[in-house]
Amino acid sequence: MKIHEHQAKEILARYDLPIPKGKVAHTPEEARAIAEELGGQVVVKAQVHVGGRGKAGGVKLAQSPAEAEEVARQILGMEIKGIPVKKVLVTEAVEIAEEYYLGLTLDRDARMLVMMLSASGGVDIEEVARETPEKIAKVWIDPLEGLHPYQLRELIYTAPGVNQQKVGKIAEIASKLYQCYLDYDCNLVEINPLVVTGEGELVCVDAKIDFDDNGLFRHPELEEYREVGADLDEYEKYAHEQGVTYVHMPEKQRGRVGIIGNGAGLVMTTLDVVARAGEPPNNFLDVGGGSRADMIVKALDVVLRDPEVKAVFVNIFGGISRCDEVAKGLVEGVKSLRREVPIVVRMTGTNEELGRQILSEQGGDRFITASTMEEGARKVVEIVHQMEAESTA
Ligand code: GDP
Ligand code: MN
Repeated sequence: MKIHEHQAKEILARYDLPIPKGKVAHTPEEARAIAEELGGQVVVKAQVHVGGRGKAGGVKLAQSPAEAEEVARQILGMEIKGIPVKKVLVTEAVEIAEEYYLGLTLDRDARMLVMMLSASGGVDIEEVARETPEKIAKVWIDPLEGLHPYQLRELIYTAPGVNQQKVGKIAEIASKLYQCYLDYDCNLVEINPLVVTGEGELVCVDAKIDFDDNGLFRHPELEEYREVGADLDEYEKYAHEQGVTYVHMPEKQRGRVGIIGNGAGLVMTTLDVVARAGEPPNNFLDVGGGSRADMIVKALDVVLRDPEVKAVFVNIFGGISRCDEVAKGLVEGVKSLRREVPIVVRMTGTNEELGRQILSEQGGDRFITASTMEEGARKVVEIVHQMEAESTA
C-alpha cells in the first residue's frame, strides 16, 4: 500500500528524522494560511501516489503567502500521470547544497534487504540507476543478522561524492530508516532527496513509503491511510465501478492492442506473447472464471474506452467458463460497442466447437479467429501495424 509524502513524513517524524515543518491544504486559501503560519519561503507539493511530481510541475517554490495561494491553485487544478491532485503539502523551503538519495527495499533475488545511497539524488535517480549504476552504493542486509553498524559505514564510505564529514549523521538517519522499515513491514522506504543544506544540516525533503500488503493486518493504525482507488487512472476507475479486473499499462509502455482473457496467469502470458509479437499491450483484463456473456460485454466496453486501442485480442481458456457463453457475450458485445475495431479471438476448452460456430454464424465477419495464442497475437499485431501503415501512407 502506497501512502502520500505527508503521511510518510508523519511516520518518519516518529523516528526523529529531520523533516521540514508543513501541513496539508485542500484549497488555495488554506495553502495561503499555512504559508503565513510557516513564514518565509515555502514549497507547495502535489500529494498524489506517483513519483516524478517535480518534473510534472507539481512541486513549486513560493516566496510569499500570496504566491503560495497562486501556485496551490495551479497545482490543485492539475493531473499528474492521469491522477487529479486533491491536496497539497505546504512546507518550509529548504536551501539545497546537495541532494542525496537514501533508500531501503527488498532484493528478492538476493533474499535480503538492500540499502542504497547516492550523492546523485533528486529527480533523476532512475536514470542514474540505468546509466551510471556505479554512482549508487549498496549494502545487503541479511534478515536474520540484521543491520550491522559497519555496513552503514561501508555504505557511506563507498558512495562516490558523499560528504564523508556527514558519516555520523547519515548513519543515524539510515539506521532509523531501517528501524521504520522493520516496524511497519515495508516494501520500500525512500528519502529522495536527502538534502545537505548550506549550513551542512541534513534534511529529508521528500519521503516515500510502500507497505507490504501482507503485513498490514499487523498495523491496524495504518488503515486510516488507505485510499481506495487513489492510484487508479480514469480508465481503471471506470473498470472498478463496472466490477471488472483491469489494469491500464503505464503510459510510457502501453501500446494499441487491448487484451481480454480469463485467469490472471493466462492474461499475463497473453501480454507477454503480444509484446513479443511486436506491440506492447494496452491493458490487463481478467474476466475471471465462470465468466458469463454479460461479463464479456462489459470487458469489451472497458477495453475500448481508451481511444488508443485499435484492436482487441480475446484469449479464453474454457474451463469453468464455457466457450459458447463467451461467444454469446462477444456477439452481444459487438452490437453495443462504443467503436468498431477488429477483434481477434482464440478460444479453447469446454464447448469450443460450439463457441466457434456461434461466432461464425451469428458474428458474421466481425471476428478473426485463431487456434493458438501465438497465432492470435501475431494476427492482432499485424492488424494494428497494417492500420498504422495505411494511416501514414
Ligand atoms: P518528486 O519529484 O515527486 O520526487 O518530488 P520531490 O519532493 O523530490 O521534489 C522534486 C525536486 O524539487 C527536488 O529534487 C528539489 O530539487 C526540488 N525541491 C523540493 N523541495 C524543495 C525545497 O524545499 N527547496 C528547494 N530549493 N528545492 C526543493
Ligand atoms: Mn523525490
